[in-house]
Amino acid sequence: MAETTVPVSPIPLPANAVEIRGLTKVYQGSGRSGPKHALKGIDLTIPRGSLFGLLGPNGAGKSTLINIMAGLVNKTAGEVRIWGTDIDISPRQARASIGVVPQELNMDPFFTPREMLELQAGLYGVPKGERRTDELLAAVGLSDKANAYARTLSGGMKRRLMVAKAMVHTPPVLVLDEPTAGVDIELRRLLWEHVRRLNKAGTTVLLTTHYLQEAEELCDTIAIINHGEVVACEPKTQLLRRVDAKAVTFELDRDLDAVPEPLAALHAELTEPRRLVVRYQPSRQKADAILAAVRAAGLSVVDLSTEESDLEDIFLQLTAGAHDNEVSRGAA
Ligand code: ADP
Ligand code: MG
Repeated sequence: MAETTVPVSPIPLPANAVEIRGLTKVYQGSGRSGPKHALKGIDLTIPRGSLFGLLGPNGAGKSTLINIMAGLVNKTAGEVRIWGTDIDISPRQARASIGVVPQELNMDPFFTPREMLELQAGLYGVPKGERRTDELLAAVGLSDKANAYARTLSGGMKRRLMVAKAMVHTPPVLVLDEPTAGVDIELRRLLWEHVRRLNKAGTTVLLTTHYLQEAEELCDTIAIINHGEVVACEPKTQLLRRVDAKAVTFELDRDLDAVPEPLAALHAELTEPRRLVVRYQPSRQKADAILAAVRAAGLSVVDLSTEESDLEDIFLQLTAGAHDNEVSRGAA
């Protein structure tokens, strides 16, 4: 579907697929619950062509942000431009530029995938001759289920059908809210592949996830939100470089019962009688100094390994205190 993913347009392409400024959302509480400040002045720029990950613990405001972009939730304040179009000025045009796969899968169990896609195309005013139902079904691996009732589809198939549904009007921006929540690891990989393919073909993709591994594997740019605020937003590689922590482990040829002096000064830890771990900040300390301390202690090293930080460390650091059990550490 490479050639048809992005509509040909005489208007110059926008530099940014999405621009969000000062986005604020206050849900008016009902009954006993007071108002909820779900988004507190979010600024976010999603470059055209990126595979952008919006990461955050449960309740951070991810779905609220996406639902505002999709026109499903009214914002309290701020500006949102999708594909160059302000959602307040031209809501219909903005909506035509975006396809959203919501977090909750709701579909009529008595429609078939083919009927569902045709219906959706009708809603978006896609003329019969321009519909891509078969192509989309093939793209999400559902050709052989085209005429099956939706209730007979597995969870993963339903999720893929929702992706196809979000693509019927060929939007340049595809938004997936927790696309792989509750999807098993194999199907997750299939979905990732599909999302990657769409992105390579030119679709800008925004996905939210609380699976750190998903963002780390899939996304080129990552924003982290917490309590309705952006706490980080940068290219993934840059974000990963931000955690300035490494550990080196030395396997020794004999048992020790205490950390020898030159290494104690470096806060080395004896995790096993023959295993010494030194944690350090590469920006502040050279590995050389650690090796020199090992030599000065007269230790004989049988083997050594190093460990770098990953997105999880950064995430925990940036959202400290926000989540105790809420965040899923990679694939379940
Ligand atoms: P996420 O998708 O990151 O888990 P949400 O955007 O769903 O976060 O929720 C952000 C905050 O707003 C949460 O505290 C949630 O309870 C609250 N919230 C979400 N939807 C509503 C609503 N319709 N009414 C009131 N509060 C809501
Ligand atoms: Mg959500």
